[in-house]
Amino acid sequence: MASLSPLLVQATPVQVARGEGVHLYDTDGNRYLDFTAGIGVTSTGHCHPRVVAAAQEQVATLIHGQYTTVMHQPLLRLTERLGDVLPAGIDSVFYVNSGSEAVEASVRLARHATGRPLVVAFDGGFHGRTMGAAALTTSGAKIRSGNTPMMGGVAFAPFPYAYRYGWSEDEAVAFALRELDRLLLTAAPAADVAAFIVEPVLGEGGYVPTPASFLVGLRERADRHGILLIADEVQTGFGRTGLFWGHQHAPGVTPDVIVTAKGLASGFPLSAIAAPAALMAKGRPGSQGGTYGGNAVACAAALATLDVIEDEGLVANAAKQGLRLLDAARDLAADHPGIGDVRGRGLMVGTEFVTPDGRPDGATAARAHAAAAAHGLLLLTCGAEGHVVRMIPPLVVTADQVDEGIALWSKALTDATT
Ligand code: PMP
Repeated sequence: MASLSPLLVQATPVQVARGEGVHLYDTDGNRYLDFTAGIGVTSTGHCHPRVVAAAQEQVATLIHGQYTTVMHQPLLRLTERLGDVLPAGIDSVFYVNSGSEAVEASVRLARHATGRPLVVAFDGGFHGRTMGAAALTTSGAKIRSGNTPMMGGVAFAPFPYAYRYGWSEDEAVAFALRELDRLLLTAAPAADVAAFIVEPVLGEGGYVPTPASFLVGLRERADRHGILLIADEVQTGFGRTGLFWGHQHAPGVTPDVIVTAKGLASGFPLSAIAAPAALMAKGRPGSQGGTYGGNAVACAAALATLDVIEDEGLVANAAKQGLRLLDAARDLAADHPGIGDVRGRGLMVGTEFVTPDGRPDGATAARAHAAAAAHGLLLLTCGAEGHVVRMIPPLVVTADQVDEGIALWSKALTDATT
């Protein structure tokens, strides 16, 4: 008999048997309010009937139409349909399986298109665990530790994490852009930089909404130096932030490449990069992809996901319920001095725990996270020291379910701090 490798670290001891909407049920029949959405994946809720029906129909028709061998209809239909939600001018799509693979695809495209070697990523960013994506990741030590040397050609610039710096957002953005300018004149000469890669909300690094003015500053510098702007929308895309794409919170900013995964296919493994056709044409044909890329069942599920998002008004719901959740989480923080900051954008809400002298407090965050699970509310932690508890409910969450989640969170906070 084999056993599970300890390489797998699980945030809770819960063993799930089934999922429905915003709920998961364990093997003993206990019900959990799932404010993790499978790390921001099951945006349409667990097992949405329309996603289930589309996948079942596709399974019975064609499961694997290997895309470097033959073409299949779900992939073509999805590509056409993505044209409705992608920003104007971003009209060419390439599929792989996971967020990490798509991130690596975007970097390879940027290197091929510009003929330049370097990529600038930002402190605290998370872009994946595969070797190339891990080389861009600084959300915490565990992704990098013991894994050096990593892929070369990566430079890091500060991210405007205003709360942790103890600055206003404007001060943090001014500092981060000043340091980026210095980097482009020193360690990463601008003429050698292929791309900036940035998350529209810093995700695993601590749930810090990226200030609009920072994205504007990156776009300006990218244009000035012929650098491509890659938006890693793996966690922020598909309505999660209350707009379809996270970068749309920065008016006037359109990235050159959008990386998407997670919410794209409601839980089926599918990811993509999207860019203007002229830019994609500068990539090297055949250099990208893999056996399972653009799987037919995953594409059918993604099509159904887009229908559900549109027909049920889920982007607007994410904006509305996100505000309700943020306001309520902030109200609770007023009673808990160990909470330093509550922030969010749409249905990405983070609560940062601090020690009395203002340092990250991962221990209290861990207690609050575990207490929430014991009360039937599944959450996740993030931040370099695990000091931020994050809420990422499915986009189908209702006002009553938000209120129920907050009531359980209130109990968990009391348990963790008394
Ligand atoms: N980029 C971002 C912004 C992410 O949040 C994640 C996953 N948390 C990834 C990339 C990597 O995606 P995957 O785990 O599917 O490889």
